[in-house]
Amino acid sequence: MPASRPPHVSGKTGRPELMVILGSSLTVIAILSIVTFLLIREHANAQQAATRSATTIAQLIDADVLRTVELYDLTLQGLIAASQRDDLKQVSAQIRHLVLFDRSTTARFKGDILLLDKYGEVLADSSLVEPKPGNFADRDYFLAHAFNRDTGMFISRPFKPRCDCEDSDEWRISFSRRISSATGEFLGVAVASMRLGYFDQLFNSLNIGAGSALSIINDDGILLAQKPHLANDSIGKSFANRPNVQRILREHSGSFDSVSSVDHEQRLYTFSRVGNLPLTVIVALSGNDVFAAWERTAIVISGATGVLCIGLLWLTWLLCRELRLRHNAEQELAQLAATDALTGVANRRTLDQTLRHEWFRAQRSGKPLSVLMIDADHFKAFNDQHGHQAGDDALRALAKVIAENVRRPADLVARYGGEEFSVVLAETDSAGAQQIAEHIRVAVEQLPFVAGVESPITVSIGISTWTSTTDTSLEQLLFAADKALYQAKESGRNRVVATQ
Ligand code: GH3
Ligand code: MG
Ligand code: MG
Repeated sequence: MPASRPPHVSGKTGRPELMVILGSSLTVIAILSIVTFLLIREHANAQQAATRSATTIAQLIDADVLRTVELYDLTLQGLIAASQRDDLKQVSAQIRHLVLFDRSTTARFKGDILLLDKYGEVLADSSLVEPKPGNFADRDYFLAHAFNRDTGMFISRPFKPRCDCEDSDEWRISFSRRISSATGEFLGVAVASMRLGYFDQLFNSLNIGAGSALSIINDDGILLAQKPHLANDSIGKSFANRPNVQRILREHSGSFDSVSSVDHEQRLYTFSRVGNLPLTVIVALSGNDVFAAWERTAIVISGATGVLCIGLLWLTWLLCRELRLRHNAEQELAQLAATDALTGVANRRTLDQTLRHEWFRAQRSGKPLSVLMIDADHFKAFNDQHGHQAGDDALRALAKVIAENVRRPADLVARYGGEEFSVVLAETDSAGAQQIAEHIRVAVEQLPFVAGVESPITVSIGISTWTSTTDTSLEQLLFAADKALYQAKESGRNRVVATQ
C-alpha cells in the first residue's frame, strides 16, 4: 500500500549480532592463542628434558673414555720410563719384556704395545718376547712425533692392523708418546693400540632408545664408533664435510636440532668434547622419540580445542540466527503496531508521534508545518447504498489517492479514524498545503470507479498551518484544521478550506 512515508518503526539494528560474533571470535582467538602458547612451551620443555638426559649420557661416556685413555697414557709413560733404564740392557730378554710391559696389563681392549726406534723399527712388542721385525715409520703417529717434539700424547686415525692375526679386521686406534733424549733428540715412539670394540661395549651399556644414535668422532671428523650404525662401512670414514659435523667440531659442546645428512631423520644433537682429547661424543636423539609424548598430547589438545571452537562458532551462528529472527519479528510487530490494518497507511498512534516530532522540529527550525484533515463526504450514504464491504474498498482507494499525491519523504499520511484521514506536511506553508489538498480533492473527484461501483465520491479538506509568526499550540493547530474541515462541510463539501 503506497504511503508517502512508511510509519516510523523503532527497532534495534543488527548490533547485538555483531557483538556476539565479535565476542565469540575474540574468545576463539584467545583459546587458540593460549593453546598454541602452551603447546609451544611444552615442545620446548620436551626438548629441554631430552637435552638434559643426552648431556648426562655424553658426560658418562666422557668420563669412561677419559679414564681409559688415562690408563693407556700411564702404560705408555711406564714403557718409556722402563725403556730409558740402562740396567735393562744387561738382563735377559724375558726380564726386560716383563719390566717394559709391567704396567700395561690393566688397559681394556688393549691391542699391541710397541716400542719403536727413531727409524720406526720395532724394538719391543708386548705380545712377543722376541719382537717380529716391522717398520712403522709411515704411520701418522710416528711422523707426528718425529717432526714435533711437543706433540704430547697422540691419538691416531682409526686403522686395521697389518698382521694376519685373527682380529686383523677389527678397527683400532693407537695412543702414542715420543721418546726423547735428555737434550730433546728424537729417539723413538711408544705406541699402544686399542680395539674400537671398547666404544661399542661402552655404548651398549647405555640405553638411548630406538632411532637414536651414539657416535664418537675425532677432530678430523672421522667416525670411530657408532651405535647403531646409521650407514654401512662408516667407521674410519671422514664426515668432516657434513654441516652437522662441522658445527659440532666448531662448537665443541652444546646442543641443536637438525636433520641427519646420513638417514635424513630429524634429530636432537647433544655433543661434548672428551676433556682435552681430540675426541667428541655425539648423542643424536631421534626427534620421534623426543617429541612422541608431546605429539600425542598436541593431537588430543588440538582436537579438543578444534571441537570446542567449532562448537562455540556453531552456537554463535545459532544465537545470531535467533537474534535475527527475533529482530525481524520485532520489526514486523512494530510495523503492524504502526500501520492501519484496513488501508495500510499509518495509524492514529503513528500520526500522534509524527505530529509531535514534526511539531518540535518546526519549533526549532522555524519552518512552517501544515496539517490536512480529509473527510469523505456523505460516506454514511455510500455505505448504506453499496454496503460496508464496498465502503472499506472505497476507504482503501481514498488512502491510495491521498498517498499518491503526497510525495516528499518527510510527509505522512495517516488514517485519523472512520472515514477521516490526516496528512502531516513538514516544512510546507499554507499555499503549498492548499495546492496539495486541491490535488487530492480533484484526484478523488475524478475517480471513475470507487470500490468497483460507478459512484462519485468526494472529500472535504481542512488545512491549518503553523508558522513561526503564529503563537499556537499543537492542539490549537489540530483544532484549527478540524474547524476548517467543518467550514468546508458547511459551505457545500468537496472543497478545501484553509485557516491560518
Ligand atoms: P459528512 O459528509 O458530513 O462527513 O457525512 P458522512 O456520512 O460521511 O458523515 P458521518 O460522520 O455521519 O458518517 C461517517 C460514516 O462513515 C459512518 C460509517 O458508516 C462510515 N464509516 C466509518 N468508518 C468506516 C469503516 O471503517 N468502514 C466503512 N465501510 N465505513 C465506515
Ligand atoms: Mg467523518
Ligand atoms: Mg464524512
